[in-house]
Amino acid sequence: MNSDTRQQIAALLHSGHSDIEVYRRTGAARTTIARHRKHLGLPGYHTTADSPACRHGHPFPQNLGRNEKGHLICRECVRASNRAAQRRAYIPAQPDEVAVDRAAAGDPPARLTPRERHAAIRRLDRQPLSAPAIAGRVGCSTRTVQRVRTKAVS
Ligand SMILES: [Zn+2]
Repeated sequence: MNSDTRQQIAALLHSGHSDIEVYRRTGAARTTIARHRKHLGLPGYHTTADSPACRHGHPFPQNLGRNEKGHLICRECVRASNRAAQRRAYIPAQPDEVAVDRAAAGDPPARLTPRERHAAIRRLDRQPLSAPAIAGRVGCSTRTVQRVRTKAVS
């Protein structure tokens, strides 16, 4: 590590940046930055309203907020956390197999989702049936059957 980087780390730590933010800007190892912090006699990083950024580098005060308990929060970090939770909780929609069975048997339920309709058409397409016959059983237009067939080919 050259002296420029060393000076840059010291300047960033003195100006109140977190170890993560210093790592992001300089690329120096986190243990090295922590050693610099200890050597400079700076306390461990705690985000305050006066910090230039949150510990993940989101600038303050644009992203500064308080939660319902009155604790200091970074709005951008909260948004990122919510997005991550939504991604973890996402379950792709699965077609209702009973509805698909009924539609394939010619007794479609009152409401079929497009996914279920397509599954029923694909199931009936394996049998030697014409498009109007499949459309009559599933309860859709012939054009829908043709559309599903062309999708299955590509
Ligand atoms: Zn943040």
